[in-house]
Amino acid sequence: MPILSLQNISKKYGPVQALSQVSFDVPPGSVFGILGPNGSGKTTLLSIVTDVLSADEGSFTLFDQQPSAKQRRNIGTLLETPNFYHYLSAYRNLQVVAGIKQRSEEDIPRVLELAGLTARQHSAFKTYSLGMKQRLAIASALLGDPDVLILDEPSNGLDPVGISEVRTLVKQLAQAGKTIIMASHLLDEVEKVCTHVAILRKGKLLLSGPVNAVITRDDFLEVGSADN
Ligand code: ATP
Repeated sequence: MPILSLQNISKKYGPVQALSQVSFDVPPGSVFGILGPNGSGKTTLLSIVTDVLSADEGSFTLFDQQPSAKQRRNIGTLLETPNFYHYLSAYRNLQVVAGIKQRSEEDIPRVLELAGLTARQHSAFKTYSLGMKQRLAIASALLGDPDVLILDEPSNGLDPVGISEVRTLVKQLAQAGKTIIMASHLLDEVEKVCTHVAILRKGKLLLSGPVNAVITRDDFLEVGSADN
C-alpha cells in the first residue's frame, strides 16, 4: 500500500501551469526525493499534499484512503522554517510550536533526542549553528510522532556542516521507520539520501522510481544533465 498515491494532479496559477498531470506512488519506508530545478513545481506539489493548496484536477490518497484530518495528523510537515524565538531555548521554542500545533509537550524530549539536540536543549536558539537550527525545525515537525515527514528542500541555505548534519538526520529518521518525502534541486543530494525519486521539470513528471533504477536508465542522462 503506497503512503501517498498521486493521480493526474494539475495546478495552474493564472496562466502558469505549475503542475501538469503528475502521478506517482510513494512506497512505505522510502526516502522519496522530488527532484527538479527552481520553478519545476516541487513546492506546489508538497503544498497540495499538505492541504495548503488544492489541485485544479486529479486526486491523491494518503495511507490508501481519501485524505482526512486524521491522516494529515500522521504527517509531519516542514514547508518553511518556523519562526523560532531567538532568545528562547530549543526546549521552550518546541513548547511554543507544540501549543500552536496542538501536540503534546510530553513528546519534546523524544524529538530533541532524535534531532541530536538534547545536550543543547536549554541553550538559546540564537547560539545554534545553521545545522542545529534546521535540525530543530525538523524536530518540530516530528512532534506527535508522525509516520511520514514532508520536507521542502531541507538543506537549502545551510553551510556544508549543516547540510551533512541534516542529511544524516534524514537517514536516521528513515532507519527509525519514518517515510520521508523531500523536495530537492540537487541530484547529488537525492543520490546520497533518497531511495526513490520523482523528477519534475516545468510541472511535468519526467521519470520516477527507485533511485538506482532511475539513474541507470538510458533516458536519465538527458534529464539529469540539464540543470539539476
Ligand atoms: P522553487 O525551488 O523555486 O520553490 P519549485 O520547484 O518549488 O521551485 P514552485 O514554487 O512550485 O516550484 O513553482 C512552480 C511554478 O509556479 C513556477 O513557474 C512558479 O513561478 C509558479 N508559482 C508558484 N507559486 C506561485 C504563485 N503563488 N503565483 C503565481 N505563480 C506561482
